[in-house]
Amino acid sequence: MSLSEHPSEAGDLRLVLIGAPASGKGSQAKLLAKKPGVLHLSTGAVIRDHMRRNTALGEKCRETMNEARLVSDEIVMEVVASELGNHHGGYVLDGFPRTIKQAEMLEDWLDQRGSELSAVISLEVPKEDLEQRVLSRVVCLDCGHPFRLGGRVNSVNEACPECGGQLGQRADDTLEMFHQRYGEFEELTVPLIDYYRRQGLLQTVDGRQLPDEIFTKIENLLDLQPTRP
Ligand code: AMP
Repeated sequence: MSLSEHPSEAGDLRLVLIGAPASGKGSQAKLLAKKPGVLHLSTGAVIRDHMRRNTALGEKCRETMNEARLVSDEIVMEVVASELGNHHGGYVLDGFPRTIKQAEMLEDWLDQRGSELSAVISLEVPKEDLEQRVLSRVVCLDCGHPFRLGGRVNSVNEACPECGGQLGQRADDTLEMFHQRYGEFEELTVPLIDYYRRQGLLQTVDGRQLPDEIFTKIENLLDLQPTRP
C-alpha cells in the first residue's frame, strides 16, 4: 500500500503487464483503460484485427499466429510504434514486450521520445489454473472482451454482455496451443521478469484472486485513485 498523500494521475501511467496466456492481463488492462487518458494496447488484439481486415500486416502474421508462435520482434515493435506514436497520455501494454529484445527496442523507442516506463506488473497464476481458464474462455468477436463460461456468460451462443456482439472461442485457446504458448512464455518472457526487477520497475501480483480484487491491488501498487463505478 502506498503511503503517498497524492495519488498518481492515470494519464501518467506507462505500464507493462506481464503474464502467461489467460493470466488476466487483458481484463486488468481493460479496467485500467476506464481511467481517463489511459490507452489499452494489446498487440495480440491489434494483430488479430489486422488479420480480420486482411491487411498486409495481418497477412504477414497469419501463419505464425495460427501456429501460436510469436511474430517477429520487428513487426510487433512496428505495431506498438504506430499505435503509441500519436498517443499523448497514459497506456497499458498488454502482451508486449514478450522478449528481452522487444524490451530493449521499446526502451530505445521511448528514450528517443524522452520517455520511459513508469511500472511493470507481473500477474502470477499457476499453470494448472491457466489450463482451466483457457478451456473455459470465450471472447467477443466484435469488441474483444474476454469472458469465462459459467461467469457472465454460459454459452458462446449468447450475445456479448458488453456490446451485444457475437461470442466465440479464440483459435489459439486449445490445450495444444496453450502448451505451445506457455512454453514460449517460459522460455522467452519469464527472463523479462528478472530484467525489469533489476531495473527496479517490477511489482508482482497474485493473479488467482477475483478480477476486482486484483484490480484494487494494482490501483494501490500504482498509487492510483480508485475508479468510480
Ligand atoms: P495475445 O492476444 O497477447 O495472447 O497474443 C496472441 C498472439 O499474437 C501471440 O500468440 C503471438 O502470435 C502474437 N503476439 C502478440 N503480442 C506479441 C509480441 N509481443 N511478440 C510476438 N508475438 C506477439
